[in-house]
Amino acid sequence: MMRTVLLRRTLALALLLSAAPLATRAQTVPSATDSANIRRIYNEALAQGQSYENLRYLTGQIGARLSGSPQAAQAVQWGQTTMEKLGLDRVYLQEVMVPHWVRGKPEKASIRGDKGKGVSLNVAALGGSVGTGGKLRAGVVEVQSLAELAALPEARVKGKFVFFNRPMNPLYVETGQAYGEAGDQRRSGAAAAAKRGAVGALVRSLTLAHDDLPHTGTMSYQEGVTQVPAAALSTMGADELSQLLKADSKLTVELEMSCQTLPDVKSYNVVGEIKGSKYPDQIITVGGHLDSWDLGQGAHDDGTGCVQSMEALRLLKATGLRPERTVRAVLFMNEENGNRGGLKYAELAKASNENHLAAIESDGGGFTPRGFNIEAAPSVVRKIVAWQPLFAPYGSGLLAPGHAGTDIGPLKGQAKALVGYDCDSQRYFDIHHTAADTFDKVNRRELELGGASMAALVYLLSKYGL
Ligand SMILES: [Zn+2]
Repeated sequence: MMRTVLLRRTLALALLLSAAPLATRAQTVPSATDSANIRRIYNEALAQGQSYENLRYLTGQIGARLSGSPQAAQAVQWGQTTMEKLGLDRVYLQEVMVPHWVRGKPEKASIRGDKGKGVSLNVAALGGSVGTGGKLRAGVVEVQSLAELAALPEARVKGKFVFFNRPMNPLYVETGQAYGEAGDQRRSGAAAAAKRGAVGALVRSLTLAHDDLPHTGTMSYQEGVTQVPAAALSTMGADELSQLLKADSKLTVELEMSCQTLPDVKSYNVVGEIKGSKYPDQIITVGGHLDSWDLGQGAHDDGTGCVQSMEALRLLKATGLRPERTVRAVLFMNEENGNRGGLKYAELAKASNENHLAAIESDGGGFTPRGFNIEAAPSVVRKIVAWQPLFAPYGSGLLAPGHAGTDIGPLKGQAKALVGYDCDSQRYFDIHHTAADTFDKVNRRELELGGASMAALVYLLSKYGL
């Protein structure tokens, strides 16, 4: 009898163990049909993909498109027309007021030593910075961090440029992590410097590359604190300045920048939609940001995210895989210096009581896909991770919790899942926010594979929900 009971128990346990994964599989993991449909999506992208040619137009014919610029307005028109040509169910604009900062004449900077010798530096004003009002010449104090600055005696800082020279940490495999960590100097260095009586901030570019390209990016001031100019130095320039400072702590830097902030400008998010066949009220957003910094062509940041998002909808249409839930491609305005478009999108979604299932963003460049970063409750993350076998054959199977994206960030709490397109990150920060972020840096197949992986995820979300 003992043996029988034991045997029964063992059998029950075995049944339970084998039944559990089967039940999960039936709900979320995909059939052979899904696998075949996803193959069709990739086939269409690899043989007939249109995102690369769309990107060629956006970067080549329109180019850089900083918020408030005429090029940003042109890009809105282009986005609308391009989506209308896809024959979507609805294409529309969402009005949003955006900041309008202009760089003005190319910046100039040079180092002056005690013997009067000048070395010129490649610099770029940080976005949002005030100008110098002519030539601004001052001594320099170098620091590695905001904390080091805060600990310096006032006399060491007053009347000088604070030179923030902490490099990005090369030891992380994911470069975005190093970018995030080093970013405080760029974002709030000028305000911290001004608080201590400095006249400006010079910030080492946020890149692991050692070259002469300055990397711009957003910065902000603090209410009640004097607004002092802030410029990015190339990594080579930063190293040179640091070395010269060691030999001559009395050297000066002369900086000339004519950037300024003009009144806000009316702009738009561009939205294209395919209505869900079964659950039209449930919305899946897939997007990138249409604005870019003004120095390059905004190719990897974030032209690629825009064309991939539109391509995801085109791929569903071209393969006849009509989504069961509503799918929206959104080209967000003003990610770079305000995130007003992302905020507006979430605000309107809330005001209309929309039901957002998931939002996907591609804003890490158009490099070889790896997978997706997921921000959601653990149970929701598990559902998405269960689709891993469908992505693995395409090298896109890294599905894990992680940062999703800035534009979709404001949807947190409104959408069940926020998802970031994850691609190889080794080259992104070489060109990020520089004159080198141009179309020629984008590889056609990498870009199209990324769009296909986004379309495949949209397909699964639209079929199974979360
Ligand atoms: Zn971006």
